[in-house]
Amino acid sequence: MTDTIDISSSAGSYNFTVGRSIFEKHLTALKKKNQFSDCFIFADENVWKNHNNRIQTAFESAGLSFKKEIIPSGEKSKSIKQWERLTGVLLQSGVRRNTPLFAIGGGVTGDLSGFVASATMRGIPLIHVPTTLLAMVDSSIGGKTGVNHETGKNLVGAFYQPVEVIADTTFLDTLPDREWNNGLSEILKYGAIRDRSIFDRSEFFLERSSASNKKENSSLENLILDCAGIKADIVQEDEFESGKRAYLNFGHTFAHAMEKVADYGTLSHGEAVYLGMLAATNLSNSLGADLNDEILRKFRPLYSFDISPEMLPVDSMFKTMKLDKKNVDENFRFVLLKNWQQPVVETVNNEELIRKAWLTVFNELD
Ligand code: ADP
Ligand code: ZN
Repeated sequence: MTDTIDISSSAGSYNFTVGRSIFEKHLTALKKKNQFSDCFIFADENVWKNHNNRIQTAFESAGLSFKKEIIPSGEKSKSIKQWERLTGVLLQSGVRRNTPLFAIGGGVTGDLSGFVASATMRGIPLIHVPTTLLAMVDSSIGGKTGVNHETGKNLVGAFYQPVEVIADTTFLDTLPDREWNNGLSEILKYGAIRDRSIFDRSEFFLERSSASNKKENSSLENLILDCAGIKADIVQEDEFESGKRAYLNFGHTFAHAMEKVADYGTLSHGEAVYLGMLAATNLSNSLGADLNDEILRKFRPLYSFDISPEMLPVDSMFKTMKLDKKNVDENFRFVLLKNWQQPVVETVNNEELIRKAWLTVFNELD
């Protein structure tokens, strides 16, 4: 199995590699190639708790001395305050333009550390070590970095590409179940917009036992590599988000509205995206497609939603969708499907059809 893809961007190209226990040898190779001996590690709190022995040993064995900072778990860390704090740590500890920064954690750690790396001395080398399934298939690829602002999520940031992404699946051994679903939703999204075979190949998630076995591991690694490849393809075609990159938002217009109306945290991003994809599939069918949504519903047993329809008033969701920054005017714009693997961006004016799509979501919540 090829376990590496080469991702190109205007800032140069970088490798994305997936595999079990690959972290150690990649560190050694990086050191050899780049001739550095000091570095920084920004690590997610829970990742550090669970894996600090291994991480420290890996750096020591590679002959790398490091300074480490812990990033508190959770979305609230994606703040200007944390950005300022971490930038201060780097500058006060004598960071130089070529001192690498390792971001070891999920999307929160990657987005925040990436933004710190992008702006410190106008850019220091960044290595992503994603430790959640979501970060492996989605947020570590494409160069989006940033933090939240009180007026909205991800409103302050920059495009900044890493020098390497090391997706070591050993880290996933400690990932909580709810976090697996966050990754699964994005994986199913790639199935819908680009490669139908992903639906079948994801069935092993339905049988996943906590004790992972070898066969599962290789299915998982293949799937991660393919999904990373799809994301890479799309962002390579549209690095700065003017066209095709929108396809990655399949299910997300509905999802963002739910996440916001339910108050962030009640529904996880992946839960909202799963429901949003059901709604988008229904809306696509209302507009002429003929999609059998069983393909998505099959995965329903994996999810549980701690929310009732009353917590998602339709009027509030319409209002929120109107404010979505992806809408260019008063109309609603959605990524819909003509067929599986055939995404289109469409403006929908018929509010009745959108209401009908919301109903499919509410039916799941009763
Ligand atoms: P995402 O990658 O979905 O954007 P976060 O960065 O917020 O999410 O990580 C989700 C949660 O999982 C956080 O509480 C984080 O501390 C925790 N976490 C991340 N990676 C691991 C891991 N490998 N093992 C255990 N917990 C982890
Ligand atoms: Zn998403």
